[in-house]
Amino acid sequence: NCKNADDVLKAVNDYNVSFLQFWFVDIMGNLKSFQILPSELEGAFEEGMGFDGSSILGFTRIEESDMVAFPDPTTFQLVAWRPTERPVARMFCSIRYPDGTPFVGDPRYVLKRVLDKAAAKGYTMYVGPELEFFLFTSPSDPRVLDLGGYFDAPPLDLGNDIRRDIIFSLTRMGIHVEYSHHEVAPSQHEIDLRYQEALKMADTAITYKVVIKETARKHGCYATFMPKPLFGENGSGMHTHQSLFKNGRNAFFDAGEKFNLSKDCRAYIAGLLKHAKEFCVLTNPIVNSYKRLVPGYEAPVYIAWANRNRSALIRVPMYKPGKEAATRIELRSPDPTCNPYLAFAAMLGAGLKGMEEGYELSTPVEENIFKMTEREMFDRGIDSLPGSLQEAISHFENSELMKEVLGEHMHAAYLEAKKAEWDEYRTHISEWELKRYLPTT
Ligand code: GLU
Ligand code: MG
Ligand code: MG
Repeated sequence: NCKNADDVLKAVNDYNVSFLQFWFVDIMGNLKSFQILPSELEGAFEEGMGFDGSSILGFTRIEESDMVAFPDPTTFQLVAWRPTERPVARMFCSIRYPDGTPFVGDPRYVLKRVLDKAAAKGYTMYVGPELEFFLFTSPSDPRVLDLGGYFDAPPLDLGNDIRRDIIFSLTRMGIHVEYSHHEVAPSQHEIDLRYQEALKMADTAITYKVVIKETARKHGCYATFMPKPLFGENGSGMHTHQSLFKNGRNAFFDAGEKFNLSKDCRAYIAGLLKHAKEFCVLTNPIVNSYKRLVPGYEAPVYIAWANRNRSALIRVPMYKPGKEAATRIELRSPDPTCNPYLAFAAMLGAGLKGMEEGYELSTPVEENIFKMTEREMFDRGIDSLPGSLQEAISHFENSELMKEVLGEHMHAAYLEAKKAEWDEYRTHISEWELKRYLPTT
């Protein structure tokens, strides 16, 4: 648990660290890493390490390509999947321009800026994501490893040994795991983490994905966070539990209010609901994300909130007496291909907007929305999430709030990348089309 550069230098010496990995993510949340030798570390803390930003997706243009990575000493951690003899350590970095100002295209910076805005009002955001994933034989031959279902135990659950190794690795990297289980679909799994402060949790989500992928690879299989890899089966979500604390107390709890939800919490939920379409491309970023957001697979489609109902976009877990600190809301749309920094920034931005503007919260919808007629939905004012990446892109493009939350640079860079992706998808000829149309046309 290092607090500053001196702690890190000492730890590197004590553990006889061989290499230091400097980590950051591109705008899509893909992990980027380069290694330095311990001899360079002191200089890196003082002056950063320069690199070519023009080769990183969404960073900069060629003419302004020099970027500098400054390691964050509080994120120092030995890497669990490398040898224990002469271990390797990693630190997450902040990216800056050569003149020392923060780089506006660094997702970590974007999240920090929104967190600072919340902090200026006294709020700290806590997040607990549930990242689901599939284990396949290999990416080129994606066969499932087992036919287990929800909570199935061995011998139906054949991911048991892999999950065990994953959890050992996560624990060694200081990540607090709460529980794990086989998920609903064949070969689908979930490992749940103890909630944490948002920036730390975004870092953790990145680490979690690498640990899972590396552990699966060691077991000769392939882990994927693709939202909907199997037709007709549940997809993989990243339900995100969230709460705000103020002065050490849960600001979402108020015993005097309906459902024990404070005024802040109600406005925060209203903010998420109102802006859900605008931030959808951040929480559900790929073409395949929208094949998960369809009725019938425990993934949300309609924009509503509820106390128990799992067909709603936002669920508020029932209050258990004496558990004020656990008061939270669960946003069920995100999937694990999102960039967690940008997704958390967008959620918090939408929630804060609701609080600032005093949005009114609609009544909860406890009935199964999937069983309602269109007329009933219309009468109750229930809208749907975007049905495709294209729809999500256009809501994001026109969103003043998202421009403000991400900043102009990030908003434009993200938009450009997503438009190119949609265009590629839109013009390609799929297997489905050939099978469906070629024999009959
Ligand atoms: N896999 C479901 C989803 O896509 C969620 C299942 C669950 O409730 O954990 O969101
Ligand atoms: Mg689950
Ligand atoms: Mg959940």
